[in-house]
Amino acid sequence: MRRLADSPLIAEHRRVGPAVFAFTSRHGGISRPPYDSLNLGLHVGDAESAVLENRDRVTEVLRAQDRIWVQAQQVHGSGVACVLDEVIVLTCGGLGPSHDYLQYGKADALVTSLPSHLLALFFADCVPVFMVEPTAAVVGLAHAGWRGTARRIATEMLAYVGGEDAPAGRGPERTRVVIGPSVGMCCYEVGWLVMRSVLATIPKERRDERVVRRTAFGRWHLNLARINALQLIEAGVPEARIEIIDRCTCCEKGTFFSVRGEGKVTGRCGAFAWLE
Ligand SMILES: [Zn+2]
Repeated sequence: MRRLADSPLIAEHRRVGPAVFAFTSRHGGISRPPYDSLNLGLHVGDAESAVLENRDRVTEVLRAQDRIWVQAQQVHGSGVACVLDEVIVLTCGGLGPSHDYLQYGKADALVTSLPSHLLALFFADCVPVFMVEPTAAVVGLAHAGWRGTARRIATEMLAYVGGEDAPAGRGPERTRVVIGPSVGMCCYEVGWLVMRSVLATIPKERRDERVVRRTAFGRWHLNLARINALQLIEAGVPEARIEIIDRCTCCEKGTFFSVRGEGKVTGRCGAFAWLE
């Protein structure tokens, strides 16, 4: 872990039981503005060769060269892709890093019990939700923007990691969660539709000023990270087992990519999860 802590490429990382969660900064890559410099997203208009080099650099820092990189087409939905058994691995250039990878279709959460795999999702303000059930060694990673939050993507993932449908001996009360850097309440202003859709997922008594603040007529500030945490608490995860990394990607746009801070044409940070 010493190398992760020392690397400018990695903004945050946590070891939780048998799993590790890491979130990249925008530093240490080769992409040119406005993707400078560690853009990991292939779908945002950056040069493919630069993104693949950036992905290789991150893979090396994570010491994950021998792991199978797992990614999905992120669509702000509630689909969960599970890699729970050995599956056929695709290897081809142009879509992933230069080693073996597994590309899923539309999904915004990835779950695996295989230490041979590296879960990867990409972010510019949305909420990365990392989850591990230590007893069973199942790890999950979700991408929750307002649509994913409204569709309870974190709870959908919990069903596979440590939910009620999980095998005996596992459960939400043992699941541990880390919520990574995302756009903070300070910078996330929304209109009525978004506010209503997201707040509908948590009980009325939880809708206090730590979650929602009205700032102007028809405008509200939302705390998406906390709302994801509250959804998981409702689903049975103890509050003490949830850590929210309180860093706003928009306030810290010198460290992270931020759509709110820089507009739609920008890079993507990477969130990674794996079992050691
Ligand atoms: Zn902020």
